[in-house]
Amino acid sequence: MTLTTNLGFPRIGPRRELKRALEAHWRGELPATQLLDTARELRARHWRLQREAGIDLPPSNDFSLYDQVLDTALLFDAIPRRYRAVVEAAPLAGYFAMARGLQRPGIDLHALEMTKWFDTNYHYLVPELEAGQDFALRGDTPVAQYLEARRLGIETRPVLIGPVTFLWLSKTVDGSDRFALLDRLVPAYVQLLEKLHAAGAGWVQVDEPALVLDLPEPVRDACRRAYAALAAGPRPKLMLASYFGALGDNLQLAASLPVDGLHLDLVRAPEQLEAALDALPPGRMLSLGLVDGRNVWRTRLDNALLLARYARTRLGADNVCLAPSCSLLHVPVDLDAENGLDPELRSWLSFAKQKLGEIRVLADALDGHPGAEAALEDARLRHASRRASTRVHRPEVAQRVAAIDPALGRRVSDYPARRQAQQAALALPPYPTTTIGSFPQTRQVREARAKFKSGKLEGAAYEAFLEAQIEQCVRFQEQVGIDVLVHGEFERNDMVEYFGEQLDGFAFTRLGWVQSYGSRCVKPPVIFGDVARPAPMTVRWARYAQSLTSRPVKGMLTGPVTLMQWSFVRDDQPRADTCRQIALALRDEVLDLEAAGIRVIQIDEPALREGLPLRRAHWDAYLEWAVECFRLCASGVDDATQIHTHMCYAEFNDIIQAVAAMDADVISIETSRSRMELLDAFARFRYPNQIGPGVYDIHSPRIPTTAEMVELLGKAREVLAPDQLWVNPDCGLKTRGWEETDLALRRMVEAAMVMRESA
Ligand code: GLN
Ligand code: ZN
Repeated sequence: MTLTTNLGFPRIGPRRELKRALEAHWRGELPATQLLDTARELRARHWRLQREAGIDLPPSNDFSLYDQVLDTALLFDAIPRRYRAVVEAAPLAGYFAMARGLQRPGIDLHALEMTKWFDTNYHYLVPELEAGQDFALRGDTPVAQYLEARRLGIETRPVLIGPVTFLWLSKTVDGSDRFALLDRLVPAYVQLLEKLHAAGAGWVQVDEPALVLDLPEPVRDACRRAYAALAAGPRPKLMLASYFGALGDNLQLAASLPVDGLHLDLVRAPEQLEAALDALPPGRMLSLGLVDGRNVWRTRLDNALLLARYARTRLGADNVCLAPSCSLLHVPVDLDAENGLDPELRSWLSFAKQKLGEIRVLADALDGHPGAEAALEDARLRHASRRASTRVHRPEVAQRVAAIDPALGRRVSDYPARRQAQQAALALPPYPTTTIGSFPQTRQVREARAKFKSGKLEGAAYEAFLEAQIEQCVRFQEQVGIDVLVHGEFERNDMVEYFGEQLDGFAFTRLGWVQSYGSRCVKPPVIFGDVARPAPMTVRWARYAQSLTSRPVKGMLTGPVTLMQWSFVRDDQPRADTCRQIALALRDEVLDLEAAGIRVIQIDEPALREGLPLRRAHWDAYLEWAVECFRLCASGVDDATQIHTHMCYAEFNDIIQAVAAMDADVISIETSRSRMELLDAFARFRYPNQIGPGVYDIHSPRIPTTAEMVELLGKAREVLAPDQLWVNPDCGLKTRGWEETDLALRRMVEAAMVMRESA
C-alpha cells in the first residue's frame, strides 16, 4: 500500500481560532493556559482531519504559536542576550517578546527582524546569532507533540527545520560566518533525534528548502558535515524535504546525504524526477510532492499519477510515498466553508483538506483500488469544464495579449524630452512635495465602508461620505502646502482587493485566510480567468479630487506585478501572460485617468522585488516580463503626463537595471530607516529620472523633526542631482492618525522649503 504523508498543515484554524486566542491573550483577556488549550485543541482537530482525509502519516511539530523558525531558535537555545532574562523568567511571554518586542516600564526590547520565507508571503523571524555562541536542547516540544498525537492514537512524523536551512535563514549580529556555528549546533539536533527515537518516532521530516537555492560551496560542505553527524547517532529514519523548486545543482548533494528518504517538489519542478531517480541510491524512499501546496487549484490527477506510476516502477512500491509539494501552510484550510463562491469556480478549487483527499485518491489509484476510478473521472470532468469555460477564456483578452506590439511599451519621447514637457505642464518648484497615496483610514472611514458593504448604508450616502473625506483631504494638503496632491484612498480596503473586486477574472473567498506572520492572515484573491476591466475603477474619485483644486492631483493605481503577486494565480497559463492581461486592463485605466484631466499617475509596484525567482538564473526572464508589464501600463500617455511608481523597500542593488528600464518619470522608495544609504544603488547607476527618497518612516508613530528630514535630504543631495529629488514619506499614511500626519507633513514641507532656499 502506498504511504500517504503530509508536510505541514495550516495552524491558524478554519475560523482563525488561533488568531483570536493569540490576540485575546496579548490584550490580557485570555490566560496562557487557555491559549495553550486552544492550541492543543487545534492540533488534535487537525490531526484527526488529516487522518480522516486519508493521510497515513501526518506531521507533528508543524504547529506553532507564532513562527516555526522562532520555535527552532528557542528549541536550540539561540536566544539573543537582550531577551534571555525575560525568557528565563516567563518562557511564553519571552517567546512573544522575541516575536513582537516588549515595552514595559524599565524594559524596551525590539522584536526580531521579520522577513519572507523563501518566495512565499509567509514571514519568519530571523534568528540572531553571534560568533562562538553555544546551543543546547531546550525543552522537548517536538517530542511532546509527537506523544500528544500518539495519545490520540495517531502516529505522526515530527517536522524539524534542518540545521543548514536554519543557519541559512539566521543572521549573525557581529558579521561573523554563521556556518562557523554548525559544529556547535549539530550536537543539539543529534540529541533531539535520539529523544524522538526513544519516544518511538519512526520517521522525522527534516526540512531543507535551502537546497533549492544557489548555495556557495562552503554551505554545501556544511550540509555534508551536518548530515554525517545527524545520521550517526540513534535516530528515527530521516526524510530530507526539499521544496519550492528544483534541487538542480544540489541534487547530487541531496542524494548523497546519509538519510532514508528525499522529498521532491514535483509541482514546481516535475522535470527533476528523472534525474532524481537516477541519482538516488538503492533503498532510499522517494517522497513525491504531487499536489500543489502553494496554490488553490485542483490537481490534474492523471498527470500526477503518470509521474507516481513511473517512480513506483523504477523504485518499487515500498520506496515511494505521496505528499503535497510543500507544507499546506500556504493555502486556506477548507473549501467546504466557501458557500458564497460560484459553484463552477468552486469545483475547480482545492484547499488544504481537499488536497489531502487528492493525495488519498492518487494512492488508491496507484494501488489499483477500484474506488479510485470514479474520483479520477470526477477530476477529469472538473478540468474539462475549467478548460472549456467561457468565464476563464475570453478570446478578446487572449487576442489582445497576442497582439501586443513592442511599441505599446514605449513612451512617445525619451525621458529628457518628457521631463521638459512635464515641467511646462506642471510648473513644480524644486524639491516638489507629495505623499504616497493613502491618508489615515480612521475608524469612521472603515465603519462607513463596512456599512455600505453590508447594505446598511446606501450607495449615494456612501459616495457623499467619500466625497466629503476627499474634500477634507484635498483642503488639508493645500493648506499644508503639498505640491502634488492625492485623493487619499478612502474608498479602498486594500490595494489589491479594491482592484480585484472591479476586474473580471478575480474571485474572492469568504474564509480563505492564509497566515502571513504571527496572528496576521491575508485573504488573497483568486485570479481564475482572463482579466478584463468592465468599467473605469478609480477615475470617478480622481476626477472629483481634481475638480476641487488647481494643484495637480495624482491618480493612484496598483501595478500588475503586485496585483498578481498578492493573489493566487491561475496555473493554466504562464504567470507572464496573466500579468500582461492585468497590465492591459490597467493601461486602459491610465488612459481614462489622463482623459479625465489627471496629469500625474502613480502605479505602485511594492511587490516587484519579492517576485524574484529563488534562483539567480531565472531572474532575468522574470524581470524582463515584469518590466514589460509595467511599461505596458504606463506608456500610452502623452509626454506631459507624469508617471510615478512606488516601491516600499530600498534594496535596489541587484535590480537597479530593471528599475531603470521601467522608466517611470518619478520613483518613490523607502529610505528613511537606512538613512539614505540605499540611494547609492541609484547613484552608482547614474539613474537619470527623478526619485522621491522617503524622508520619514510611516511605520512608526514617531514624528521626525524638520532638521532630521533636512539632514536626510542633504544626504540624498550628496549622491543625486538637486533637480532629481522629490520630497515624500516612505509609504502610504493609512495606518497613521490625523494628528501625527498633520504635524509630520507640515515639517516635511518645511524641510523642502529649507532645501529650496539653500539650492
Ligand atoms: N498607494 C499605496 C498607499 O499609499 C501604496 C501602499 C504600498 O506601497 N504598500 O497606501
Ligand atoms: Zn509603500
